[in-house]
Amino acid sequence: MRIDIISAVPKVLESPLGESIIKRAQEREIVEIVIHDLREFGLGNYHQIDDIPFGGGAGMVLRVEPIFSVIRKLQAERNYDEIIFLTPEGERFSQQIANELSLKQNIILLCGRYKGIDDRIRQALITKEISIGDYVLTGGELPAAVLTDAIVRLLPGTLGDSESALLDSFQNGVLDAPLYTKPATFEGMSVPEVLQSGHHAKIDQWRSEQAIERTKQRRPDLL
Ligand code: SAM
Repeated sequence: MRIDIISAVPKVLESPLGESIIKRAQEREIVEIVIHDLREFGLGNYHQIDDIPFGGGAGMVLRVEPIFSVIRKLQAERNYDEIIFLTPEGERFSQQIANELSLKQNIILLCGRYKGIDDRIRQALITKEISIGDYVLTGGELPAAVLTDAIVRLLPGTLGDSESALLDSFQNGVLDAPLYTKPATFEGMSVPEVLQSGHHAKIDQWRSEQAIERTKQRRPDLL
């Protein structure tokens, strides 16, 4: 899979996508993540990428030309399954959407900045709009990193244990069961005996009961 991310502030993406599991997935060539600095496609000597909004009002708007240039260049090189704009106005991101996107070959993630982007970009180029929640961030870089992380961990070979991602919260419509590791007792708090029994059928049964119980308590809307 290939993920192209277009950003006016590419440095913000470096750490979330350049460490740990996501870094290893790139090294193993499970995913190719290419970050494009929008300013390289900016206009004139100052590489201008934004301007004041028509009609007035506060804040700057990302101009059409630099974004068209970078997307058209990418489209000339390969076909894209989705060109996604990260925006608070988009469809709310979910595990279901991450699952669907993880099956795609090539996607573009466009990060907004300032007040947002010229609407003609949405009309002409964008195939999907995604929000990571009902709050407003300064830019689309963190949402793009959230999507990329959620997608890449689903790609075969990214996680050491391939089943692990399938057992996480939301995959079966319920939250995850409680987790414990050593020591078996800490400050009077003990790990449930069943987890130490080595009896796999009983452990599976306990985990699924706990997952349902937790979901009832914390997210009854999922059931
Ligand atoms: N004027 C926009 C509005 O009211 O919807 C908010 C613009 S925001 C300051 C700048 C950029 O951050 C957006 O264009 C978008 O790319 C990104 N962004 C902010 N919050 C987001 C969210 N919850 N989900 C996805 N992207 C978001």
